[in-house]
Amino acid sequence: MRNVLKFLVNSRMIILSVLGVSLYLAISEYHISLWYILAAGTVMGVVFGKVFCRWVCPMGLIMEMLMGLSPDGKIRQMYQYHKVGCPIAWISGYLNKYSIFRIKLNEDTCKNCGICDKKCYIVAMEPQKYSLYKPVLEKPGSSYTCSKCLECVASCPNGSLTYKI
Ligand code: SF4
Ligand code: SF4
Repeated sequence: MRNVLKFLVNSRMIILSVLGVSLYLAISEYHISLWYILAAGTVMGVVFGKVFCRWVCPMGLIMEMLMGLSPDGKIRQMYQYHKVGCPIAWISGYLNKYSIFRIKLNEDTCKNCGICDKKCYIVAMEPQKYSLYKPVLEKPGSSYTCSKCLECVASCPNGSLTYKI
């Protein structure tokens, strides 16, 4: 299961490209109502949290390609804050706290190595506020901004982070 998740995380840009372009074509060719997309994004939010932006959304694909052009991370921050304008991001970001699947830490096996925090863009933006493993800080996976890239889970060397029910 862990290897499947790693494979998915490593293939995320391919998955986002395929799903994003397919969704764009479906909307433009078949005139699918954006209300259906909003409903689908909300259902996905209830089950998985805010996965739509980084795994499915055509606009998310464009934003990530722009982010790739920014070595200093400024476009990354622009991406985070521009998503505030999307109703799917509002709803599913809020659902990060209540979704069925969530990122969980096994404190008994965690070695406090900090690798997971280094992978997380939320921790990078506010290291005094968030951490995936430090007990006194807030968990970024429950924050509005976490778009379930799952880099943290895939990077943990001993499987102390999981994404499960
Ligand atoms: S999935 Fe993990 S690494 Fe990605 S934003 Fe959420 S907490 Fe950070
Ligand atoms: S990468 Fe894993 S072991 Fe290291 S601090 Fe994070 S959860 Fe703990």
